[in-house]
Amino acid sequence: MRGRTDYRLAKRAVVRQVTIGALPPAAVCDAHPELLRAARNIGQSTSRSCPICRLADDRADVPTDETNCLRLVTYVYGDDLRRLSGHVVWTREELDGLAARHRSFTTYVVECCLVCGWNHLVESYLLGRAHAG
Ligand SMILES: [Zn+2]
Repeated sequence: MRGRTDYRLAKRAVVRQVTIGALPPAAVCDAHPELLRAARNIGQSTSRSCPICRLADDRADVPTDETNCLRLVTYVYGDDLRRLSGHVVWTREELDGLAARHRSFTTYVVECCLVCGWNHLVESYLLGRAHAG
């Protein structure tokens, strides 16, 4: 994937800050209502669980809730997209269509927890005709 950036290290650092008490959970569980709505309605399920909910379960000494409440939401940004810049992408087909029609744009994948509102960038990458092949 062209121009791919993985934000796992940054995420781990933030979760660690919460774990040691340097950051209150409220500071990282601040999903914007629009993001929460997108996550609820069109977010993709993931096999990962929410790090903050997991932490809360650990502290309360209760078994981790098996229901997976973490969702992935994809956004696209770029001048080539014009008015579509900043839009949430609903399906893989829609993303493929945008990539075929536009020269270059950045795709951001954000994870968002439906329970606590945790949200963090997962990865970003470039798409578009300029990056095809
Ligand atoms: Zn959570």
